[in-house]
Amino acid sequence: MNVVSRFAPSPTGLLHVGHARTFLIAWWNALSQGGSILLRLEDLDRSRCSAEYSDACHRDLEWLGLTWDGKSSHQSERSDELRAALEELLSREMVFPCVCTRSEVQAAIAAPHAEDASAVYPGTCRGLFSSLAEAQRVSGREAALRFKCPEEELRFKDGLLGDISLSPKSDFGDFPVTSRDGHPAYHLAVSVDDASQGVTEVLRADDLLTSCGPQAALQASLGLPRPNWIHVPMVMDSNRQRLAKRSDALSLQAMREAGVDPKILVRWLSHSCGLGDLGAVTPREALPSYELAKLPLQPCVLPHDFLSKLCAGELPSKSPA
Ligand code: GLU
Repeated sequence: MNVVSRFAPSPTGLLHVGHARTFLIAWWNALSQGGSILLRLEDLDRSRCSAEYSDACHRDLEWLGLTWDGKSSHQSERSDELRAALEELLSREMVFPCVCTRSEVQAAIAAPHAEDASAVYPGTCRGLFSSLAEAQRVSGREAALRFKCPEEELRFKDGLLGDISLSPKSDFGDFPVTSRDGHPAYHLAVSVDDASQGVTEVLRADDLLTSCGPQAALQASLGLPRPNWIHVPMVMDSNRQRLAKRSDALSLQAMREAGVDPKILVRWLSHSCGLGDLGAVTPREALPSYELAKLPLQPCVLPHDFLSKLCAGELPSKSPA
């Protein structure tokens, strides 16, 4: 099979060293199989995305030495396909109107990561309204659409983590497919885009593991192929906190502007991926040493002197295990 992977950043902030590591692994994994990789900017949440961040994504990836096939695309360009998928779900009564709070639905569009996700939806509006119009009339509020999740557990084999099972009841519930202002939500957009772009491999950070539940349910309902999923450990700061797009000091842009040599960063990241000390390398030079099986399964914790050493052109003192 011809492997097609993708980088799918949301241009809602600057990319940081965590993105760099995940994207590097995605790139190595695709190219080591003779595959290709696309760049798709996930800019559906227009209120939080900006052209400035989208430009920075391109520059940061280039600086790191990562390439992609063809022109990059923006998710917002494909709204017709998303509309068609929504129409299909509506006509087959696979979704229902929900007038529950806006913040819950917004969270699902904007931030698919585990720690930001709302609690599993308790099913409040399921079966309450026969149509969007009725939901809006009766409640006096705008209504979102939620997917009627099947009861069965989802089982699949993750390319790194092995056998995974997710339960609709406790892991994801009836998830939104639109916001209350009618915009397609994250799971729908990702599933439709991956299928329409021929993506066969989705390699992303493991905070998105539970996203596989909603995405598999949508793929099954819309007759879309399921890609191979590979979830890799996250990068944590020296206090073992997840890196946020807000932590600008660890952004690739800040490193670029501070004159950090990207080959030193790739050297450190390669080491963190179990490839040993390859010296200062480009991603391409490190490619022959790459094997997914070498990747440590625990989070990659940055040493406290990570930034100061990199800025001084040195390796951070404590290389990750
Ligand atoms: N755009 C999402 C993010 O930046 C990633 C979506 C995905 O890889 O499925 O977190």
